[in-house]
Amino acid sequence: MITSVTLNPQRVIDELDALRALTGNENGAQRVAWTPTWATARDWYKAKLAELPVETHQDAAGNLWATLAGTTEKALIIGGHLDSVPNGGWLDGCLNVLAGLEVLRRIAAQGEPPVTVRLVDWADEEGARFGHSLFGSSAVAGMLDTASAAELRDRDGIRLQDALRAYDVDLHNAPAAAKELHNAAAYLELHIEQGPVLEGLGLPLGAVIGCVGVERHSIKFTGQAAHAGSTPMHQRRDALGAAAKLALAIREIAKRHGGVCTCGRITLQPNIPTAVVGECEITLDQRHLHAATLATMLAEAQAASAQFAQEEHVTVAWSRIWGIEPIPFHPDLIDLCAAAIHETCGQTHRLPSGPLHDAAAVSRAGVPTVMLFVQSLRGLSHAKEEDTQLDHIAQSVIALDKLADKTMQWIATRG
Ligand SMILES: [Zn+2]
Repeated sequence: MITSVTLNPQRVIDELDALRALTGNENGAQRVAWTPTWATARDWYKAKLAELPVETHQDAAGNLWATLAGTTEKALIIGGHLDSVPNGGWLDGCLNVLAGLEVLRRIAAQGEPPVTVRLVDWADEEGARFGHSLFGSSAVAGMLDTASAAELRDRDGIRLQDALRAYDVDLHNAPAAAKELHNAAAYLELHIEQGPVLEGLGLPLGAVIGCVGVERHSIKFTGQAAHAGSTPMHQRRDALGAAAKLALAIREIAKRHGGVCTCGRITLQPNIPTAVVGECEITLDQRHLHAATLATMLAEAQAASAQFAQEEHVTVAWSRIWGIEPIPFHPDLIDLCAAAIHETCGQTHRLPSGPLHDAAAVSRAGVPTVMLFVQSLRGLSHAKEEDTQLDHIAQSVIALDKLADKTMQWIATRG
């Protein structure tokens, strides 16, 4: 039982080590959602929750909730995900849960909190097996499309809805999990940065101002395949020529607007050394925190593609693959997060998140949200090399704890 009211960041590090030993191997973490190893991680975690004065249940979408009743039903929610990608790192997702657990222990030890405090372990954040990221948080946020999810299968042909049944989740009933946000007043999530920005600045922690929006398109240039020997240079309709110009131009567009643009895939026809390229398809992925700037970046890329198509005597056609609006976090909570970080390590920084997180789904559902990033070494994640300095992990637990206190006060005084 609880013997101390002080936060113990070292316990979080010890528990991360224990979880790694229990659910990882020489290739990294193996806690893929809806698999026995994931269930093992959850059973281990539930045993820890059982030592606390909390109500625990799994919701209709498979998320695991622990609730510490407070003076009011208005709830501060802290979240993370125990699931990992195959051969994943030892911190992605589970640091958030275990740091939240330590904060919950500290709050519980001090008696009834001013607001209700809830810790959630989201189900299937990674989408590693069925390709549906943010499964549990999307359901809670009312954004799960059960009809299209029902069609999903894993590599072995097993349907998502059949895999879920083994974990007491009925896919068609999963949207009922939305009721969990009924009393939600704020949502906090600690996460490793998974990028190189904080390390480059020499800072342990950063306040996340939001998740960037994404525009992802396929762009097809069509010219004329022709003999590499007999076709004079000025008579070519080289689809690759136009695509190559665009692949370079998008980098300048990104730099000009402070966003990121990536040409990640290219396919060619006929794709042989002795023919001018007749067809070339490239992908474009653009990201920015501000919707208007993202729209400008897209418009500039489209104008550039039209210009290059004309220069190379080819045609160009765009089709949208996927996109999402930017998701800005709550300004008050960003300020509280920056203050908590400053109190912890004397300096702070505000940055956007390139990856999407469960926090994005909760924020889109209208719950005031903020995330706290801790530095990632070499920016590596989703790999067994993923790592963070131990003193930075400890500081992240302390900062999350301070942020939880500030946020409880913020909720209580908002009326
Ligand atoms: Zn994660």
